[in-house]
Amino acid sequence: MVPVRELDLVLSGLPGPLPWSNITPSLSAEFCVSKGQQRIMTMTTPANLTSFSIGSQQFDGAGQTITSIYPGDGSVAGVVARATPADVDRAVALAQDAYRHQPWRKLRPDQRATTLYEIGRRISVERDALTTMQMFDSGKPRKECQNMVDNAASYFRYYAAICETWQNEMTSPRGDYFSMSLAEPFGVVAAITPWNSPIMAEAQKAAPALAAGNAVILKPSEETPMLALELARICTEAGLPEGLFTALPGYGEDVGAALVAHPGVRMVSFTGGTETGRAIATVAGKRLIPVGLELGGKSPHIVFEEADLPMAMAGVISGIYGSAGQSCVAGTRLFVQRSIYREFVDELVARSRQVKVGLPDDPAAQMGPLISRAHRDRVAGYVDLARSEGGRVLCGGSAPDDPALAQGWFYLPTVIDGLQNSARACQEEIFGPVLVTIPFDDEADVIAQANDTVYGLAAGMWTRDVAKAWRVAREIEAGSIWINTYKQSHIATAFGGFKDSGIGREKGLHGLRLYSQVKSVFFGLQDKPLGL
Ligand code: NDP
Repeated sequence: MVPVRELDLVLSGLPGPLPWSNITPSLSAEFCVSKGQQRIMTMTTPANLTSFSIGSQQFDGAGQTITSIYPGDGSVAGVVARATPADVDRAVALAQDAYRHQPWRKLRPDQRATTLYEIGRRISVERDALTTMQMFDSGKPRKECQNMVDNAASYFRYYAAICETWQNEMTSPRGDYFSMSLAEPFGVVAAITPWNSPIMAEAQKAAPALAAGNAVILKPSEETPMLALELARICTEAGLPEGLFTALPGYGEDVGAALVAHPGVRMVSFTGGTETGRAIATVAGKRLIPVGLELGGKSPHIVFEEADLPMAMAGVISGIYGSAGQSCVAGTRLFVQRSIYREFVDELVARSRQVKVGLPDDPAAQMGPLISRAHRDRVAGYVDLARSEGGRVLCGGSAPDDPALAQGWFYLPTVIDGLQNSARACQEEIFGPVLVTIPFDDEADVIAQANDTVYGLAAGMWTRDVAKAWRVAREIEAGSIWINTYKQSHIATAFGGFKDSGIGREKGLHGLRLYSQVKSVFFGLQDKPLGL
């Protein structure tokens, strides 16, 4: 078995190390990607490059590749062919053809359900392999990856079940006619996803979009391209007609942008950063096509003095350090009532120091690495910025010194206090394990501070006062509010953001509606000619 760090030796004669996109396709060198005792795959360039499919045709990206790096140690998790705007044209043409000429959109929803169930079943059958691939692709702890794979399967089962029970609206007659409103697909939907929840974010879009009768073209993040290709394969093997689901691994600036601008694409569903979402919405606005946007957040997490403090502490810790803070709903701004502020923050710092940072396949690890070196640098840059703004770094604020983690992109759980809510570190999305703590005086004060942000994705609070919880929940401008819990999600409960955190809702029936347009049909029953 050849450790990937020794790639240079294996690829003897090659001019330099990765990325593979620098290696000319004519060179053929075999190596295997391994982690500990586990061999993931053996690859030969270019033969064992993971290509992408558009219908039954395989494409190798015309020599351009994307390398997925394992954030745990910087080794190669996989190399996939990189799609180009020409591939977008091909995929859209095929998707349009499939949408128009395949029976998919005309099938009864319960007939579509059969294929969706089968996709969900096959994801579950391949759970272990997908979990492992996900772990190396994204660097998230194995358990978290397993949850994501399970969630992906659930999305297909859930929307299959919705298809089984789908009802259109019949309006009460107001004359000699009856009328109904039908949910119709848009046609070709572009789904663009970020790197922090591969396969789950993709399924969250693809399952309802397909359930609604659309064709889907997915562009996953360049950081985590591998699971999207697996999902496309599974869809094909489950019997989804050719062209209805295509995954195109490519860059946002060319493939993503080409998809959004393509006249054949009739709806865009995007999850990612707010500025990217704004750029996409601008293009979609000009084209007058609908967009669903799931964007960034800077969620307030509030602890009132009467809260169950041990429960609140556990909620705050998991709310910020889960996914190493790379979560759109992470509770990144902690507001603690002034009467308990010092005591709570001291305990929080002690508990943060105990969080076990480790390799994703270490079962004891509570927090894995960040997605890339560049992202870790960005997170560290925000901590430096917080220092320059007058913040005190109470713990963390650097990479761990454990030599076993030296090759990966780890960053310690970090707590910062001493900042005003207006500081940039309190206003901008850091997307790492960095928590800012701010005291508040009373309900009105915390509502004002919590809402003083451009974001409105989520918020959490801990209190034993039910009436207060209700009042505060109604006042906070966010799409999800957690009371005495945090990051709880439900497949059937709507998810999405207020303000700059997004437009539209995913999950549940809302998710299906996002991918449907309404057509109203009137049947005349009058026995006399219509008057003028
Ligand atoms: P980005 O916005 O950078 O990228 C998201 C996706 O958009 C990627 O696939 C990217 O491609 C693509 N993209 C980039 N530019 C364009 C463009 N001009 N046109 C079309 N597509 C484009 O986000 P990240 O991947 O860095 O993900 C992190 C962000 O996602 C955070 O802000 C986080 O809050 C947000 N997020 C929101 C969630 C929600 O549900 N509200 C859930 C999860 C994350 P490429 O990879 O090549 O850059």
